Amino acid sequence: MAAFDKLVPPTQGTKITVKDGKLVIPDNPIIPFIEGDGTGRDIWKASNRIFDAAVAKAFGGKRKVAWFEIYAGEKANQVYGPNTWMPADTPKAVQEYVVAIKGPLTTPVGGGFRSLNVTMRQVLNLYACVRPVRYFKGVPSPVRHPERMNIIIFRENTEDVYAGIEFQQGTAECNKIRDFLKQELKVGPKLRDDAGIGIKPISPTGTKQLVRKAIRWAIAKKLPSVTFMHKGNIMKFTEGAFKDWGYECATQEFRDYVITEAELWDQAMASDGVTPIEKPGAFAQLRNGKPAGDSGGRIVVKDRIADSMFQQILTRADEYQVVCTPNLNGDYLSDAAAAQVGGLGMAPGANIGDFTALFEATHGTAPKYADKDVINPSSLVLSGCMMFEYLGWDEVANLIYRAMEATINQKRVTYDLHRLIEGATKLRTSEFASAVIENMK
Ligand code: NAP
Repeated sequence: MAAFDKLVPPTQGTKITVKDGKLVIPDNPIIPFIEGDGTGRDIWKASNRIFDAAVAKAFGGKRKVAWFEIYAGEKANQVYGPNTWMPADTPKAVQEYVVAIKGPLTTPVGGGFRSLNVTMRQVLNLYACVRPVRYFKGVPSPVRHPERMNIIIFRENTEDVYAGIEFQQGTAECNKIRDFLKQELKVGPKLRDDAGIGIKPISPTGTKQLVRKAIRWAIAKKLPSVTFMHKGNIMKFTEGAFKDWGYECATQEFRDYVITEAELWDQAMASDGVTPIEKPGAFAQLRNGKPAGDSGGRIVVKDRIADSMFQQILTRADEYQVVCTPNLNGDYLSDAAAAQVGGLGMAPGANIGDFTALFEATHGTAPKYADKDVINPSSLVLSGCMMFEYLGWDEVANLIYRAMEATINQKRVTYDLHRLIEGATKLRTSEFASAVIENMK
């Protein structure tokens, strides 16, 4: 049992543990939560009520979460003293109790602080940023068929230009790197003398641990395809290598479960000379979210270049189910995809390592609305749904999904959706939570 400086775990619950490579979930799991700064307080209160109501309804009192408050951000300063944004207790508690959930945190400005979220991801080696994007009927969308989007993005969380290996233009360090590149590695005039320099590390270790998670997800959820999104045509030894290591992992470690798009093509050509896309019914198959051709029930592993992927999610979103991609691509894609189904207020997320998982609202603290009871809690609520699915409590998640959809369909929404839906009733954050609970059937 970890020793904490100021945290006192609840006495009523039981710890989630890992045994023989699997999570062991008790009926009364202790789950740490970080309320979050600013509007985090509003959305946590609302979400917490929804979670408890859904668990009670789904299991008739047999199961119950023992919530355990831990601290980061402004509240950590109050509890642990000034200038303590991320006390050592906090990542220690997440590690010890395996699964946790958090609201948004202020990024402290100046003083060399890194984002608290990035710190948590790195300290706990939460290498996969997982962002499901699906449409809820009734949510206003800028596209004609938002319902065609139902993807889950696995974004690498620890490497790429996010590794923070950067050298400021004009500094001695930057000049040293530039001289090394020019003199030792003979990099020519394409590296300007007055450039700042950033390093983009991508490794087979980082890539394959992500790809395993994405393929295991596709296997568990019986999804038809996994797509590597990359910019390997330009960045061959980073993004291109990501794609190659991805295929290597898929075909070496999951051979019985996968077929590559190229294999599917060759197989079709060898049998009758007709490509999968020319076969009768190919387009209907694609429209049903199935890759064209006969995959024999296996997951089709394919890759797409990043710029084309941005077009494809707009025009043919239903051809993609699991997308696996390096850090920066994933950052852009997650927000662009979320915009298609109603924006960040509706987008859930999680950072997951081998077992440790931290579920989080994807938007920021929206400080101007703090404590006003107006903000949309859906992002945190849906992150909670992901968390319940991670625990194997799908009944709870499904109850919330249905109730949220019903509430939005009744046009009972918070201010952000109210301004977009004609004839809607504007609810406070707490009222929206009550409406969702009322609609749990
Ligand atoms: P933000 O807090 O996400 O808010 C920007 C705007 O987005 C809000 O003013 C609001 O727009 C809309 N919005 C965000 N969440 C909403 C919700 N739940 N319901 C309805 N509308 C919502 O972004 P920011 O102002 O750039 O960042 C504020 C702080 O949050 C910064 O300290 C930043 O570092 C931090 N941050 C934290 C996280 C995190 O913890 N994961 C993520 C991003 C940013 P309208 O005013 O137009 O209605």
